[in-house]
Amino acid sequence: ATRRVLVTGCSSGIGLAVAVRLAKDELQRFKVVATMRDVEKRAALETAAGETLGRSLEIHQLDVCCEDSIRECVNSLPGRRLDILVSNAGMGMIGPLECQSVKCMQDVFNTNFFGLVRLVKEVLPDMKRRQSGHIVVMSSVMGIQGLLFNDVYAASKFAVEGLCESLAVQAMTFNIKMTLVEPGPVLTEFERKVYEDAQNMDLSGTDDETARIFREIYLPYSGKVFSSLGQRPEEVAEQILELIVSKDPPFRHQTNRLYTPMTAMKHADPTGRLPLDAFYRIIFQHDRLFNASLGFMRFLQKRMTKSKV
Ligand code: NAD
Repeated sequence: ATRRVLVTGCSSGIGLAVAVRLAKDELQRFKVVATMRDVEKRAALETAAGETLGRSLEIHQLDVCCEDSIRECVNSLPGRRLDILVSNAGMGMIGPLECQSVKCMQDVFNTNFFGLVRLVKEVLPDMKRRQSGHIVVMSSVMGIQGLLFNDVYAASKFAVEGLCESLAVQAMTFNIKMTLVEPGPVLTEFERKVYEDAQNMDLSGTDDETARIFREIYLPYSGKVFSSLGQRPEEVAEQILELIVSKDPPFRHQTNRLYTPMTAMKHADPTGRLPLDAFYRIIFQHDRLFNASLGFMRFLQKRMTKSKV
């Protein structure tokens, strides 16, 4: 039987790639409800979906910040039946905290955290009644490990992780699966948007040293991370397909294994010093250390993979 999958944020990036990958499944296992806030922006998805459009893929309007639009979309599905939810819509935010308005921070939480809350409130009761379903949630490695100048974004993903970690135990009792997907950098509109915001950001609200660190150290560091470690959204989509078809999907899945040692440091040192020191060194001594640290991450990752076998 085909399973109905609803994906949010499908006008670009990972959401678009996931919707298209599932719709083009060779075994035709899915009916994809590809949703987006503004259906006027559906051209890229339509092109990528090709002949699956109107067959295994339908485009619906859904704004994760609007409960009515979520309810309307779910109500429009036959029997309200949804087998898999992929909560993907999200937004980034970078820069010194004192340069950002609380209103903009609330927008980030409203999308990344409360967007998920609204979706889960709408679909979880039905899944519980049916005692089946899978909720796949786009988190981030920044849901586990904070990063300089990503304070509010990381906080919103930590909130996502806390919510899901708590809900997952309840979900188990109803035979519902939950999976947090934790990508590192992915080459999408996301990066372009946060960079554009960063370029135009008014840094007069902070001191010269913080502004300098942001512009001259953080932004080039981040650019290097994206260009050297960035994954393509199609790679992430392929892994999401694997998770969805897996009989026993994990609760957490990192898409970029190079990050596993970085996040593992957090659990290795309860004082929290190890990851802070590592990030400090990598970011502030990056000209010298960036390549060395990349090499070190690769080395650690190999060691960890070996020790698992
Ligand atoms: P993207 O900007 O291409 O996609 C985000 C999508 O969410 C866009 O299509 C946007 O229109 C949509 N969206 C935003 N607000 C919405 C709303 N209120 N209702 C419905 N849709 C809304 O970026 P992406 O990289 O594909 O991001 C997808 C997810 O992956 C996000 O949750 C993001 O936090 C997460 N993520 C991205 C990266 C990365 O480096 N790109 C890394 C880790 C996690």
